[in-house]
Amino acid sequence: MYTQEEIAALNRQFENSTPQQVLQYFMEKLGSRLALSSSLSIEDQTLTDMMLKIDKQAHIFTLDTGRLFPETYQLIDQTNEHYGVKLHVFCPQTEELQRFVATEGINPFYESIEKRHACCQVRKLEPLSRAFRDLDAWVCGLRSSQSVTRSAMQLIEWDEQHGLLKINPLIHWSEEQVWEYIKSNRVPYNRLQDKGFPSIGCEPCTRAVRRIDDIRAGRWWWESPEHRECGLHQRY
Ligand code: SF4
Repeated sequence: MYTQEEIAALNRQFENSTPQQVLQYFMEKLGSRLALSSSLSIEDQTLTDMMLKIDKQAHIFTLDTGRLFPETYQLIDQTNEHYGVKLHVFCPQTEELQRFVATEGINPFYESIEKRHACCQVRKLEPLSRAFRDLDAWVCGLRSSQSVTRSAMQLIEWDEQHGLLKINPLIHWSEEQVWEYIKSNRVPYNRLQDKGFPSIGCEPCTRAVRRIDDIRAGRWWWESPEHRECGLHQRY
């Protein structure tokens, strides 16, 4: 548990640091008790590249909801092959998922926000809570300019929901900076990015957007913008 004063001091300490400097500090300090929770976004692929260049044993995991795009599964393989690693993949618990589908149906998320949250709970949040066991901190690819729900986030935060330190090394980066890093370092990325999908989640809950749209406009597009998080990044 970190106090608000300690969090504020850490944010001051790393105010002018690069993402790599922030990562190196916390990776050395926390070792395997720090992990990147990767959604395989361009931001998380950037962080994967940075972390594996610092330490090949870097702790990186992703969640397989069972509803991802084929391109996303291909990217998991491609990333493993490119870096010579095996990303740790967490899946939903079979019995819990079967119970949920038997009760609510296979695509209940379009019916209400409550049912959408219930699906995210079974397919994402429960596996995430297992992935978070034994961690002191998690690394996250949030950028403040991504959406209205993310504009107030900081480089280092206390994640009350999960009881962990949350580190957002790319919080001040623009989308252009991320792409520049991806291209110049030849980082593997999801090919749906080139087809109008700037933010990619589960297949039934993600659609392509126009260039003028908010980059998260294609996620849970049937809901209003302030509801478009899966519960991983709630603020209290
Ligand atoms: S994003 Fe959609 S399919 Fe994926 S877990 Fe959430 S509600 Fe379910």
